[in-house]
Amino acid sequence: MNAIKSKRNKNRAHTRLKPKNGGQSRRPKRQSSIVDSDLLIKRATNKEEVIYEAHRSFDDMPIDSRLKRNLAKKGFVKPSQIQDESLDLLKSGRNFIGIANTGTGKTAAFLIPIIERLLRQREQQTALVVVPTRELALQVEKEFISLTTGLGLYASSYIGGTSVNKDIGKLKRKSHVIIGTPGRLIDLINQKALRLNRTPILVLDEFDRMLDMGFVRDIKRIVEGMTSRRQTMLFSATIDKSQKDLIKTLVKNPVEIKVNSGTSSSDKVDQDIIKVPTGANKFKMMTDLISGAGFDKVLVFAETKRWVDRVTKKLNQAGITADQIHGNKSQNYRNNALAKFKKGSVQVLVATDVAARGIDVTGITHVINYQLPMSLDSYIHRIGRTGRAGKTGKAFTFVD
Ligand code: AMP
Repeated sequence: MNAIKSKRNKNRAHTRLKPKNGGQSRRPKRQSSIVDSDLLIKRATNKEEVIYEAHRSFDDMPIDSRLKRNLAKKGFVKPSQIQDESLDLLKSGRNFIGIANTGTGKTAAFLIPIIERLLRQREQQTALVVVPTRELALQVEKEFISLTTGLGLYASSYIGGTSVNKDIGKLKRKSHVIIGTPGRLIDLINQKALRLNRTPILVLDEFDRMLDMGFVRDIKRIVEGMTSRRQTMLFSATIDKSQKDLIKTLVKNPVEIKVNSGTSSSDKVDQDIIKVPTGANKFKMMTDLISGAGFDKVLVFAETKRWVDRVTKKLNQAGITADQIHGNKSQNYRNNALAKFKKGSVQVLVATDVAARGIDVTGITHVINYQLPMSLDSYIHRIGRTGRAGKTGKAFTFVD
């Protein structure tokens, strides 16, 4: 029975996964810039993670007692490095560049000084936070809500894939912090629903990612509209030489703090490639892999929305619980899928790069690249989803 079932599945896998053009490859059309797959083989280093130990706790910091209470409720006792080193500068209104990855506490690093200012002088639309993806927007909003419990401060987020009309209505309500993805913000600006000419603080989060995603023009337009801008905070995992000129025009006379090399997360990840022999059933190779011991929470990346869809269906057919997130899924669907993955009610989450950006799920045991990522940068971001919180993660990349 099992043999029959698996044979049937195998056949299905074959018909479904075969590209229409009957072509030579199951790879996406765009070619990856990773030519040396040896770069994707690496053992996690056993060296002790250098954990930054702040000399002060939030209690000792110049923070309003009401905000301190909320920090304590969240279980935040000591600041992370970026929070420790930036708070005084940001409170004094300095422009700021933070070179920091997700996981460093950068969100609270920019939210705390914004909330501090709001507690001193409550003004509408004090800050605009621009982020590359919907998931990150919702995470920033969530962090803001928990930091401001009971303080009468409000944030609202504006992201693609939701109703623009609802957003226009939402903008009429009180909001101290506006969070959004560039495309939707531009839509709202074009419709004259969002005005930024009185907003003093701008945060550009995951700036490198926004550039990767082609948001340069949108960002410039957003910034142009902020005619009363007094403070700019820019966060990026890496800063490329080629981006320096652009950054100079956006952030004048900044202090720069670097807390992460941008590659350190990969030091905690065992990385290996899986070569797919010609004619082999790659999908079957992956299900065999995931069926092995220890594959408790697996994030699988595929290059396109269609591939994500197919891989998810095939995994479920093979008896492995899986859900998916990609740009064609509604926000509700994506939130749900993410929640199921977090809870462990599905073993696998299949995602595109863009959709997975910013998701913060603890305990991901494995990251699997079903296809070669387009660039090393995207590879590093992906595998950084595992190997967190002092644990060693594992990453496998299929190489055709
Ligand atoms: P981020 O880098 O902003 O995405 O934050 C990563 C995670 O660390 C989030 O879950 C935060 O809520 C959490 N976090 C941020 N700052 C602290 C802190 N000082 N102490 C404990 N957890 C923190």
